[in-house]
Amino acid sequence: MSRHETIATAATKDIVGIYQPGSTHMVGDGFPVRNLFPSNELDREVSPFLMLDYAGPQYFTPTDHPRGVGEHPHRGFETVTIVYEGILAHRDSAGNAGVIGPGDVQWMTAASGIVHEEFHEKEFARKGGTLHAIQLWVNLPKASKMSAPGYQTILNADIPSIDLEDGAGQLRVIAGSFLGHTGPAHTFTPIQLYDLQLKAGHRGQLSMPSGDNTSIFVLQGRVSVNGSQAAGEAELIVCTRNGSQVSVEAQEDSRLLVMAGEPIEEPIARYGPFVMNTREELVQAAQDYQAGKMGHLS
Ligand code: MN
Repeated sequence: MSRHETIATAATKDIVGIYQPGSTHMVGDGFPVRNLFPSNELDREVSPFLMLDYAGPQYFTPTDHPRGVGEHPHRGFETVTIVYEGILAHRDSAGNAGVIGPGDVQWMTAASGIVHEEFHEKEFARKGGTLHAIQLWVNLPKASKMSAPGYQTILNADIPSIDLEDGAGQLRVIAGSFLGHTGPAHTFTPIQLYDLQLKAGHRGQLSMPSGDNTSIFVLQGRVSVNGSQAAGEAELIVCTRNGSQVSVEAQEDSRLLVMAGEPIEEPIARYGPFVMNTREELVQAAQDYQAGKMGHLS
């Protein structure tokens, strides 16, 4: 279906499905995550998003040796880390480093290739505490996959927070815009990324671009979207591309991640930390990493 055709269809987005998280697996020794996609065979339905790992709230005991994942490469996409509880530290071969805590977001553009590490921040690790975070991978269009790496630390204070009508809750704009408020993240393709909190018995009305993929991940609470069956904690609601109106009704106090974006209609070849367009490019990525062309941590 072309974008032209979708514009003429009904205003309300339908629901493709409600998806369950996979079982918990460890990324390094610091990130117990459940995957929502690309498991669940979600691919075209969530493009330009490639992966969603949910690190649900988990307590970590105090340690002098911060947990996490050591030096590893990425090429061809962006990693977006959203912290709800706990503190994380990042360092990469492009010379960027940052610490993010509750409400902060790290938007790392791997593009042509970086090597980085992701750990619990030292003091947080030493005191022990609860980590609650999401890592989202965002694809880059072919034309930008080999562009220079980048890094954006987006602090809580930089993210506009909008009070919804009738005390329904708050919406924080990480990327894209909502009611004239624009989020701070620079993106390569059009993306809307919202941290949405709704109070029980209230409704949030979103107008997403018609033709764009939209999905809603439930961190806490219980919601239904456009009259769908309710979705609860750690479940993902995926909407159709056509239509624009998304009405989110909260049965309980809820916290949601709303993800929308213009699909990137290009072939995807993925292998571990590399996401390119062809198998040959994956082989090249592995060779370039082995040859040290993505740099090293100093
Ligand atoms: Mn990584």
